[in-house]
Amino acid sequence: MIKFNRVFKVYEKNIKALDDINIEIAKGEFVFLAGPSGAGKSTILKLLYREEIPTMGTIFIDNKEITHLNEHKMALYRRSMGFVFQDFKLLFDRTVFENIALPLVITGISEAYTKRRVAEMIEKKGLKGKEKLNPWQLSCGEKQRVAIARAVITSPPVILADEPTGNLDEESAWELMKWFLELSGKGTTIIFATHNRNIMEKYGKRIIRLKEGKVVEV
Ligand code: ADP
Repeated sequence: MIKFNRVFKVYEKNIKALDDINIEIAKGEFVFLAGPSGAGKSTILKLLYREEIPTMGTIFIDNKEITHLNEHKMALYRRSMGFVFQDFKLLFDRTVFENIALPLVITGISEAYTKRRVAEMIEKKGLKGKEKLNPWQLSCGEKQRVAIARAVITSPPVILADEPTGNLDEESAWELMKWFLELSGKGTTIIFATHNRNIMEKYGKRIIRLKEGKVVEV
């Protein structure tokens, strides 16, 4: 379970990004974070993977307070999460294979297992034949498939997605949604920030709507 308790985030120059956020997200839940640009969606995700820390307030994951984890514990904790971003965040000097393998390589798992598991992901995501290409040689939809394969290769219990459909054509966006729903069906917690109304309204999932750093509707 993920819980934000009276969380405030003020960036430099007194920019209030989050203003008293209190939310709970159950294990295995699929929830949308909605709201216009600047509402605070990315900041909530950044606090969850601790790229940022709250100015005030506490964040619990499975009853553990994550604000004060040391770097070692934080690294372990981050491994329990998969990330999917609008701009894919792929490594452009590495191949498709190496990009997808990265989370496994970091954990020091055997090369044989890594090869097998990456091959499985490549097959599943329809990327066969592209293993040795660099991401810049792929279409946007393919880049996002590589990003998803990388995000899920370790089967993380939580997936954080920040406008993952933002750069995709409609068909790729629906394909991506299909994968998220499949993961959700297997019990993965998914937190999906978007302002794409079509996508949010189609699935009947809980929507946490933000405006100017406040939750205005759940
Ligand atoms: P959203 O994801 O909903 O577009 P963000 O969480 O990115 O919103 O931003 C919320 C507010 O915080 C915005 O006003 C934004 O300009 C500001 N902000 C975000 N990141 C920073 C930063 N690193 N430094 C200063 N202000 C920031």
